[in-house]
Amino acid sequence: MGSYEIVNAKGKTVMKNLRAVEILNEGKHIIGVKEDYTFELFDVQTGEKVPQESGLKAPLFLSRGNTFLILIQNGNYYVYDFELKKITKEGYREIKNPDGVRSSLLVKDENFNWGIIHIDGTVQIPPQYLSLDYGGGEMNGILYPVAHLFRASSRNSEPFYINLSNEVDLGATANSCCFVMGNQQVVGKRLMLLEQSGKLKGVEKTLLGTTYYSTSREYNNPAEAFNWLYQGWQEAPDSQYALVKLAEFLRSNPEFLQAQEGLNLSSLYRLAGKQSPSYLLELAEYFRWENQPDSARFYYEEVVKTTPQTSYTRVGAHIELAKMAFREGNKTLAAEHLNAAKRAASANQSPLPEYKLEELSEMNLATNLKYGQVILYKGEKFMVLHGTQKGVELSNGTYLPLTETDYKVLNESSDQFMTSCYACAGSGKVTKTFKMTPITVYSKPELVSGSTVSGDYIKTTSYTTPSSYEGQETCSVCYGKKVVLKR
Ligand SMILES: [Zn+2]
Repeated sequence: MGSYEIVNAKGKTVMKNLRAVEILNEGKHIIGVKEDYTFELFDVQTGEKVPQESGLKAPLFLSRGNTFLILIQNGNYYVYDFELKKITKEGYREIKNPDGVRSSLLVKDENFNWGIIHIDGTVQIPPQYLSLDYGGGEMNGILYPVAHLFRASSRNSEPFYINLSNEVDLGATANSCCFVMGNQQVVGKRLMLLEQSGKLKGVEKTLLGTTYYSTSREYNNPAEAFNWLYQGWQEAPDSQYALVKLAEFLRSNPEFLQAQEGLNLSSLYRLAGKQSPSYLLELAEYFRWENQPDSARFYYEEVVKTTPQTSYTRVGAHIELAKMAFREGNKTLAAEHLNAAKRAASANQSPLPEYKLEELSEMNLATNLKYGQVILYKGEKFMVLHGTQKGVELSNGTYLPLTETDYKVLNESSDQFMTSCYACAGSGKVTKTFKMTPITVYSKPELVSGSTVSGDYIKTTSYTTPSSYEGQETCSVCYGKKVVLKR
């Protein structure tokens, strides 16, 4: 039995034992799906059920942002509006989960071919493909944008990308092609693009350039790489991909900076950073996974240089730089980076991603110290007080620098640093006598009904403070803890 129910504003249960309940159409409708996938749709404003034809069922993928519903009638999929009127006249064997808010939907016809319809029901690409998927995010992280495309396959072909005009997107297709060729994948990709070189534009040229500057060194040609990367950037100056691929190439091949007048590496980086500092972080992560630590470090440091101290983008960069410094034995630098990561995280009211800190867990970090901990530092024991701008204040009034890592936390009680409070003689309380001029705090008249003989009268109750008062209060030296630091 399903475990969801729908209760109306008066607290009355209108549906129960449901498989799913979803809020749809930006909160204007709510649907309750029963165990057998039949459902009721409610108008949230009126509380009324939307009337429906018989035989309707709801599949379990209903995106709340969409302005339509995908429903099944007699085994066929249709697009409906929220009046539960059909938008598509024709039924389909399947309509694919739109996976977010979309204006086009992937549909499968009775011959098992996939095509694309607009959400108003018009056919955009008649069914013809063996498979079809939404383009999704960006391929290979930052590498090639495909969100506006569709990934298709036909019989006996590798998958390829098409746009809504049913044209093959050469760049996206080349970028994802030729995996079966192994080491020569880069050549396959290059040949595919070269064959169409007259048609290439913008980032497609950039992509061709990357095939001349790959990890398979024997196939590389820096002069060709520069030629295509530069053209790609010229034709698509707003593309992050084109910009960054060129900058990356020039960083490793600075001799090509002279090939074009006015070409300047640091300005290219600044441009990329302006478009998105998080991009630089992604690039750094990419190099880290590629096991190219020097490139990774370069971009992590770029993130630190190009973002404000409180930017959340810095958190990951500082953590990775801390790890690198730690591995190299530079604990002071590691602590600096970790402290900076903490600052940026707390400025963004976010926790530090602990899972990334694992290898640093054994590292001492002054900002992790807590009040009352006992540490051994430069051969002496101290009790930790609290963090300040100057460092962590210690029991003897000195400060432990925030970048200091060469100390040991001892499993010892802080009692040894404490002594009985002189102000309260260790009781935590002090007796205080107040002397003051008495004041009247209230004076409250009341009507009192009297007899026919005495008549009514007014009784007044007053409260006046005493002129002195003796009582106990918490000691203001030890705050009631009964002990204070030995000095
Ligand atoms: Zn005290």
